[in-house]
Amino acid sequence: MNISSDTIAAIATGNVVSAIGIVRISGPDSLTAADSIFRATNSTSLKDAENRRLYYGEICNYDGSLIDLCLCTVSRAPESYTGEDTVEFHCHGSPIVLAEVLETIFKQGVRQALPGEFTKRAFLNGKLDLAQAEAVIDLIESETPIGARNAAGQLRGTISLKMEAIYNSLVDIMAHFHAVVDYPDEDIDEFKVSSYLSTLQDVESELHQMLEAHERNKVLRDGLPTVIIGRPNTGKSSLLNALLGYDRAIVTDVAGTTRDTVEEKILIGNVLLRLVDTAGLRKTDDSVEKLGVERAHAAINTARLILLVLDGSEKLQHEDYDALRSIPPEVPKIAVVNKSDLPAVISEAELKELGIDNCKISALSGEGLNSLDVEIQKMFPEFGLSSPIEKPFSGELITNTRQAEVISRVAESIRSAIAALTASVTPDAVLTDIESAISTIGEITGKTMREDIVATIFERFCVGK
Ligand code: GDP
Repeated sequence: MNISSDTIAAIATGNVVSAIGIVRISGPDSLTAADSIFRATNSTSLKDAENRRLYYGEICNYDGSLIDLCLCTVSRAPESYTGEDTVEFHCHGSPIVLAEVLETIFKQGVRQALPGEFTKRAFLNGKLDLAQAEAVIDLIESETPIGARNAAGQLRGTISLKMEAIYNSLVDIMAHFHAVVDYPDEDIDEFKVSSYLSTLQDVESELHQMLEAHERNKVLRDGLPTVIIGRPNTGKSSLLNALLGYDRAIVTDVAGTTRDTVEEKILIGNVLLRLVDTAGLRKTDDSVEKLGVERAHAAINTARLILLVLDGSEKLQHEDYDALRSIPPEVPKIAVVNKSDLPAVISEAELKELGIDNCKISALSGEGLNSLDVEIQKMFPEFGLSSPIEKPFSGELITNTRQAEVISRVAESIRSAIAALTASVTPDAVLTDIESAISTIGEITGKTMREDIVATIFERFCVGK
């Protein structure tokens, strides 16, 4: 990956009036550019300044007029955040002053830094690995003290250290198996094979636990993905509104009104649901409605709970059965039999035949909603917000979807290696799986990573970080 050789600058603090605002410069010309606009009160030229010491002085415009009285600090390569020569001006926190300081720096041939460019340079210069760089943005954007503490731990390298330990144990196994492949006449030490098997099983179980914690955290934070499905007019939007307690989705008796998916978070007892109301599932020639139905199917495939809404005041129709069939068998589901305020037409026997739990409610009057709440809480005790948090996290909790996806691929390769080892397949089959796990681990730290993916990661950052 290319390491840039030009010099960049940006305001590192927010665009608000504050006590202090920081302008940061990084790159080979940082000191020259800063020197030409800053006069230290003790007359020290920045080129002779000590690393990481604060110098008080004046910062002036190109025509010599005073912009601000500020503090300046120099960090020379490689002992800086980016690994390059860096200068920071700690000015008074006026957006006008900071913009003028930046403009003056640009006049010295320095260019505006792109979002995340300082941290990207830190990564490219080996100051941070990719997981640590991602922790920087997670820390800045954290919304809860628990999230901030976990991100701080990751910034210290918790994830990378964990993955490095796994990496080293896999390299050990690979070294032995290479010897076996290269010297086929030597017998494999049976004892070693079984100990490798147990190492691989330990690795797999550790990865599995990391992924499980990630999933649980995601559900606790974002809500359990729950999709409301059913044929048009059964009362899906009315159910969403009843659960939310206000009119969020459009309710009309014209079939096909909800053409897109509507999403809301809602706390049912102590389980947070991310509730998605979908377009009614039916065959249609309307192209917009068709799109809505497609999205409904996509939502069904990622759901962790499905509420199938039936109209209890009408006979079951083939579209109700189609909707039931569209639910993947492993996804928990409840038949919400709506319109209990009207005379019941669907019989108990018919409901039983559907083979799923049901709750009778009236979205209109609110009758039965409590029993639906109870049913949902019973189904997901592990996702209750009041269930005890095992321990505060200090970096071991994977919160980043990219990292979780990489770890699940590593786990997949390990499972495949375990299967090959237990089936006594030739050692080179085991080796292929372990090699693939090792190279995938590199994607966590960024050792093996495509340049375009790295670029996307740093685009998440703000300018100045
Ligand atoms: P969707 O197409 O499945 O989203 O259905 P809507 O929520 O738009 O409701 C369709 C029609 O059924 C509307 O006229 C609602 O007022 C009516 N409706 C919904 N829930 C109930 C209920 O519990 N009882 C009665 N009587 N009507 C209802």
